[in-house]
Amino acid sequence: MAPVAKSYDYIVIGGGSGGSGAARRAAGWYGAKTVLIENGRSGGTCVNVGCVPKKMTWYFASVNETLKGARNYFYDVPKDVKFHFDKFKKRRDESIVRLNGAYERNWDREGIQLVQGTAKFTGPKEVEVELQDGSGTVTFTAPHILIATGGYPMLPENVEGAHHGITSDGFFDIEHLPKKIAVVGAGYIAVEMAGMLNAIGVEVHMFLRGETFLRTFDPMVQGTMTQAYEDAGVILHKNYKGFKTVERLDHNSATVPGGDSHKKWTDGPSPHKQLKITSNDGEIFECNELLWAIGRAPVIKNLNLDKIGIKLTEKGHIATDEYQNTNIEGLYAIGDVTGNFELTPVAIAAGRQLSNRLFGPPELKGSKLEYNHIPTVVFSHPEVGTIGLTEPQAIEQYGKENIKIYRTKFTAMYFDVFPPEEKAHHPTQYKIICAGPDEKVVGLHILGEGSGEMLQGFGVAIKMGATKSDFDRCV
Ligand SMILES: Cc1cc2nc3c(=O)[nH]c(=O)nc-3n(C[C@H](O)[C@H](O)[C@H](O)COP(=O)(O)OP(=O)(O)OC[C@H]3O[C@@H](n4cnc5c(N)ncnc54)[C@H](O)[C@@H]3O)c2cc1C
Repeated sequence: MAPVAKSYDYIVIGGGSGGSGAARRAAGWYGAKTVLIENGRSGGTCVNVGCVPKKMTWYFASVNETLKGARNYFYDVPKDVKFHFDKFKKRRDESIVRLNGAYERNWDREGIQLVQGTAKFTGPKEVEVELQDGSGTVTFTAPHILIATGGYPMLPENVEGAHHGITSDGFFDIEHLPKKIAVVGAGYIAVEMAGMLNAIGVEVHMFLRGETFLRTFDPMVQGTMTQAYEDAGVILHKNYKGFKTVERLDHNSATVPGGDSHKKWTDGPSPHKQLKITSNDGEIFECNELLWAIGRAPVIKNLNLDKIGIKLTEKGHIATDEYQNTNIEGLYAIGDVTGNFELTPVAIAAGRQLSNRLFGPPELKGSKLEYNHIPTVVFSHPEVGTIGLTEPQAIEQYGKENIKIYRTKFTAMYFDVFPPEEKAHHPTQYKIICAGPDEKVVGLHILGEGSGEMLQGFGVAIKMGATKSDFDRCV
């Protein structure tokens, strides 16, 4: 739709989780005249290449696990149940297109002007947009401008031929599963994707710099999950020393380096891909796909932030205070571009609070998001849930003598009918970390069947300041 005005109350750059949440609250609740600028697919990372297709693929993988388990319940499930990943991918893509449309209809209904194009600052209160339909540029002004441009998955800089692999974005382009994949990374995205691929029969090799993955999580989670993955058949290459080169043996693709979007500079998945990887210590590894899951960087490159003097953090994210203010008056940032808890509900909540503060009634003028006790789930196999401090963090914050730890471990009843050696490969473990004389729960870590859904209720309790005795009182 062609822009109908140039001057707005609110310019929002980025129609992902955070930008959408902020714009909808401002326009839908408070009637602020809002323009939303988006240069990709509506809904951003979460909808298109993040939470949504990830969770759907996780369900796909879970169906396969259930079918395998069904034999233990004496269902006649053939050993080689056929599935059609390409058809599932098509259906998943269709769901996402529907979601893109739902986002756009919501924006339209709430009076938000969507402009499809790439924004950059031409002044502290002025944004120029290069329109995607090729019709030129248009300039908007507003007293309040929000930067919600998100992040992108990184490729390593020092590995020759790194672009022959894919990143998490490319994972969602896979139509035909590779036979054998190398997954580089130890964070939650690497673990989730490795787990899904393993569950649907791909030979998965994970390359870890250390002994365990999920290294920012509690040691119980790190240790148990790393072992669970090995037990499930994921081949772990621990303490690997890094890759030197990646060569493509089937053919050589062209590289178009640069830009914030990796898609312009990686090969993309292919059913015929054959890769030869040489590590820094001279070892050779061959596989059909390589997935880089080594972290994400903020999308800021072409925004002209230096021109208007916006301060960045040491890691290159946009620096904000607790109210999402940047160092320039009237300019705000939320979500992944700030590097603060890179999760969809966090970006949405931060956006809504900011719009409450900017456009809401006087009693909301102090609105801000509290960034503590944010529950996080990893859709690994099994799932992991975590809230608050890990054991090492609690010791550092409260002192070892002031914390008390409660643990339990067992095997979920679902696995009772499994052969004993298989049953042993399905752990459930819970741990709560309590601090002070009243044993306030400051950390909760759970892993096992159903942990993802279970975590949400605990999130409310812990946010309310629950103690160990509150937990005990609940029958
Ligand atoms: C594989 C994966 C799995 C994930 N799983 C989960 C999960 O299970 N749960 C969870 O909570 N979070 C998950 N996340 C994280 C979640 O997707 C992000 O935290 C969230 O999308 C961040 O929202 P955002 O608004 O900050 O950025 P984004 O959603 O990335 O939106 C930014 C938008 O800005 C647009 N843009 C950028 N530059 C410009 C410009 N110059 N002009 C115009 N538009 C621009 C982009 O096109 C994009 O649409 C996952 C992420 C990944 C990659």
